[in-house]
Amino acid sequence: MRASPSTVFRHPSAAGSDAAHLALFTSQRDPSGSWVIGSGLARLTTVIATIAALVVATVLPLAYFHFGQQFEAGQIEAETKQEASLVSSLISHNPANWQTEITRLLAILNSFPGPEAYTHTIYDAKGSVVVQLGHHSKNAPWPLALELVEARRIYQADRVVAQVEIRRPLDDLLTRTAFVAAIASLLALLLFVALRVMPLRALQRAVQDASFLASHDAMTGLPNRTLFQDRLRQALAQSRRLGGETAVLCVDLDRFKDVNDTLGHAAGDQLLRRVTGRLRTCLRETDTLARLGGDEFAIIQSGPAQPEAAAVVAQRIVERLAEPFDLNGHEAIIGCSVGIALSTGMPSDNPEAVLRSADLALYRAKEEGRGTFCFFEEEMNIRLNARKRLETDLRRALAEEQFQLHYQPQIDLASGRLVGVEALLRWYHPERGPILPGDFIPVAEDTGLIGPLGEWVLQTACRQATRWPGLKMAVNLSPVQFRMPGLELSVARVLAETGMLGERLELEITESVLLHDTEATITTLRALKNLGVSVAMDDFGTGYSSLGYLRRFPFDKIKIDRSFVCDVAEGGDATAIVRAVVRLGRSLGIRTNAEGVETGPQAEFLAVEGCDEVQGYHFGRPMMAADIEQMIRAAPIAGEFNTSQRRVTQG
Ligand code: C2E
Ligand code: MG
Ligand code: MG
Repeated sequence: MRASPSTVFRHPSAAGSDAAHLALFTSQRDPSGSWVIGSGLARLTTVIATIAALVVATVLPLAYFHFGQQFEAGQIEAETKQEASLVSSLISHNPANWQTEITRLLAILNSFPGPEAYTHTIYDAKGSVVVQLGHHSKNAPWPLALELVEARRIYQADRVVAQVEIRRPLDDLLTRTAFVAAIASLLALLLFVALRVMPLRALQRAVQDASFLASHDAMTGLPNRTLFQDRLRQALAQSRRLGGETAVLCVDLDRFKDVNDTLGHAAGDQLLRRVTGRLRTCLRETDTLARLGGDEFAIIQSGPAQPEAAAVVAQRIVERLAEPFDLNGHEAIIGCSVGIALSTGMPSDNPEAVLRSADLALYRAKEEGRGTFCFFEEEMNIRLNARKRLETDLRRALAEEQFQLHYQPQIDLASGRLVGVEALLRWYHPERGPILPGDFIPVAEDTGLIGPLGEWVLQTACRQATRWPGLKMAVNLSPVQFRMPGLELSVARVLAETGMLGERLELEITESVLLHDTEATITTLRALKNLGVSVAMDDFGTGYSSLGYLRRFPFDKIKIDRSFVCDVAEGGDATAIVRAVVRLGRSLGIRTNAEGVETGPQAEFLAVEGCDEVQGYHFGRPMMAADIEQMIRAAPIAGEFNTSQRRVTQG
């Protein structure tokens, strides 16, 4: 296995915890470089604890012995002194034959009731024993027979006449010291445990907790992205060595954000924990489940029988997570999408590549309508690379001015007059030729390039509009661009810079703009209206088509989507819908524009129904500014408009 810094942070409960445990006290640095707990600290703690234990184990008995011996010595010194003084007075009464007064001498010695083990001896001037009380023990329990000896000489006329001596064996003191030493050893052991084992254990536990948090998601307790990648690397290496395949499943909750927005973050957290529980029930113990962030989970599934095994698990997960969740009495139905990538053909040392592939498959699953699973295919990779290239080219395109605006005529149905144009963006790629907005606007939105690009569109369209007095200029705003802060300021600046009247500018937004953060959206829309700018709802009918939007904000125009207009002449649902929208617009005082009018009968139907305005290939394709100018010059006279007659056709 390749050494990896993240191995250091494996929790004991995780597989391979022994290695991690070892690493904790042998490694010096974690991946973030924040924890440095190594063998040095362990060794220092051991040394301190050992010294403290040795001090207690030795100093205590030695001190006991030392002071005990001092005490005993003081005692026999005092006794010897008293004995000597009594013997001295006996000698002074009978200096010639004091040695014969054995009874009195014994009485003196007996008047000091010391322990039996004491030996009292009185010697004469020649050193011969005159009288002795007590005796040395021959069977001392200690190999070293220690004893205290105190002797005192008795003088007469500066001549030694006798000597009194007390001997005190230290056997019992040694025995007591041995007992104290035993207790001290016990204390030393406890001290060692307290100083060495306990702090290190606490430290070890703290480090393990920190390691756990560094490698796991605190809320669900699942491995996080770092640990997941480590495990995936191991699984891929194992698959390569032992055969078999590794599948990576990326699971993304479909409507998690809705729960978070409506029921609050606490409910969102609760939901994530419940989802974790359900996911666990779909997996085997050998599978790894991780939370990569937000509402994204990932699974490593190793073993034979792929891709069937992965498909079975994915299907089970989709079904389990489709079941409703009860969040404190609120029912939440979220569902999920799953993307699967297999290790075959992937570089085994590159877990990121496998994860990225599973992620791509997840996007495909979402595109296919959510609540489903999808396997990664090579074609997705090709699409990914193409998209990356598009991103790079798009950045360059802005700098090299590869963009152009085309303008599509907007005709007033009642008068047959050209009343406005819609600016539509075109990208002329130096190698790939013209690219339509549907292919690059989403990329511009994802990369944030929509900001400068949108501003360029606004600038160019407004500058152009100043040359076409009397025409309205419609400019499309992307939802991402709409949510960028300071939109109204940038519109105001462009109007001021180009000298364009706000009343002649119309901004087209789609319903998706109104989906989120409605208060802020309404504020921005009002700020735009205060500049005199009119606002049109584009592609009406394709989104939620909530009538509430029309009530909350006074739109100036509803643009009926092409998908309804193309079927109007045939009767049926589309006819009824277009008719209803036109009437709705009229009763609310909002102009209606029918997009994508391609035939005379369509135009006639719309005129009869009272639709205010039309645009479409029947009246003119999106065209260059010069062609619009030509159209203005040949402008039809009011009232002469014949709906079945094609007026302008440009490529
Ligand atoms: P949209 O705003 O609904 O624009 C109308 C689209 O329908 C245009 O496609 C136009 O060429 C096409 N169209 C018009 N009449 C007909 C017709 O009779 N038949 C058919 N089949 N199609 C017709 P285009 O230019 O490809 O633009 C597609 C979308 O890209 C636009 O839809 C708009 O949402 C977006 N877009 C275009 N330019 C810009 C721009 O400058 N900024 C932003 N944010 N979006 C833009
Ligand atoms: Mg539009
Ligand atoms: Mg449209």
